[in-house]
Amino acid sequence: MSHIVVVGAGQAGSSLTAKLRKEGFTGQITLIGAETSPPYQRPPLSKAYLLGEMELERLYLRPESFYADQDITLLLGAHVSAIDPVAKTLTVDGAPLAYDQLALTTGSTPHRLPASIGGALEGIYVVRGLADVDAMEPEFATGKHVLIVGGGYIGLEAAAVAAKKGLKVTLVEMADRILQRVASPQTSDYFRALHTTHGVNIIEGTGLKQLTGEGRVSGAELADGSKLDVDFVVVGVGIAPATALAEQAGLALENGIKTDAQGRTSDESIWAAGDCASFPYRDTRIRLESVPNAIEQAEVVAQNMLGAGLDYAAKPWFWSDQYDVKLQIAGLNTGYDRVVSRQGDKEGSISFWYYLGDTLLAVDAANDPRAYMIGKRLIEAGKSPTPAQITDPETDMKALTRA
Ligand SMILES: Cc1cc2nc3c(=O)[nH]c(=O)nc-3n(C[C@H](O)[C@H](O)[C@H](O)COP(=O)(O)OP(=O)(O)OC[C@H]3O[C@@H](n4cnc5c(N)ncnc54)[C@H](O)[C@@H]3O)c2cc1C
Repeated sequence: MSHIVVVGAGQAGSSLTAKLRKEGFTGQITLIGAETSPPYQRPPLSKAYLLGEMELERLYLRPESFYADQDITLLLGAHVSAIDPVAKTLTVDGAPLAYDQLALTTGSTPHRLPASIGGALEGIYVVRGLADVDAMEPEFATGKHVLIVGGGYIGLEAAAVAAKKGLKVTLVEMADRILQRVASPQTSDYFRALHTTHGVNIIEGTGLKQLTGEGRVSGAELADGSKLDVDFVVVGVGIAPATALAEQAGLALENGIKTDAQGRTSDESIWAAGDCASFPYRDTRIRLESVPNAIEQAEVVAQNMLGAGLDYAAKPWFWSDQYDVKLQIAGLNTGYDRVVSRQGDKEGSISFWYYLGDTLLAVDAANDPRAYMIGKRLIEAGKSPTPAQITDPETDMKALTRA
């Protein structure tokens, strides 16, 4: 009987194994994950779950019984340390396991602060897994001072939770502005104003120089020489694709595990999906760090492992929740040279439209699901209304999708 093994029991791994069964695969499936929880969704970790508004069971992607019901062997708390692509075996906690086809859905690893600047002190947290968030949650007590390092979506979401819980919040961002890597100056301005209204002190254009303390962090020194007393620190300075296993196996890497359009790596029997995989997209190669990508790519890979021969056509979208704002993003803004904004129908709703020349690339919509849906449809259909049409309050937006 054919044996498919999937390494990484996260969003992509769970979707991939479920899809294999849905497509009628009757062979053996083993899903292996280093974490001890059954596959769960990460987005609430920096949102509702950290805020204490979501129960643990609701994080699980599928009920625990699902895997046994579907005859999927779920090995949790199990670490895969090596792949032998010639013998087609894995080493799982020191023991060999044979596979016929293998999928790597190993996700990504958060960057940590180096020990040389105090990164090894106690009271410093990253936001990647359930264990990270369960460890930091007790620190979120009213009146404490948290320093957030990094003004990307994860750092801003953690700042929003902390402010809502009545902590004193300082966020430091080395780049000139928060969200610089991922969003327009207009979107940065919008979120800076939102956080400032909620009392968060945002310091931009200034790096963290050093964290200080005896055993546990108690202070921070910034690059401009200023000093802060802090009770704990949350670090959101980006992630790296988890490629160690692929590298050990000699697979081709290129900003992640390199796959072809179908999700196959440089080894015929090994596939990859989710945060760890880089794949062809239009005339370039990208890697996406998002739930929709993890699900959709994993499902295409599952079908291809069964011989479907489908190319994965990514339709990038993403979201972020901060306070009472839901940001929805459609498309990829890479290379944009112009951004125009449009007020939504409701108070406080606004959207930012990214262009390269005359081509619409992406939309950031804040509390404006209509603008998001229309933008997504336009981008996926390759349609580009003019910037003047977008900014004109009289434009019938829905009609644009029919044009
Ligand atoms: C706090 C937070 C908030 C987020 N918010 C959003 C959001 O609002 N919207 C959105 O679209 N996306 C969001 N994301 C991103 C999204 O969660 C990820 O893109 C998605 O989880 C990727 O799925 P994945 O299966 O590729 O990786 P993961 O879900 O990370 O799963 C990978 C799994 O592989 C395991 N693993 C790795 N190596 C091994 C090994 N050698 N042996 C055994 N197991 C291994 C890991 O332990 C991990 O459990 C957020 C992420 C975080 C951390």
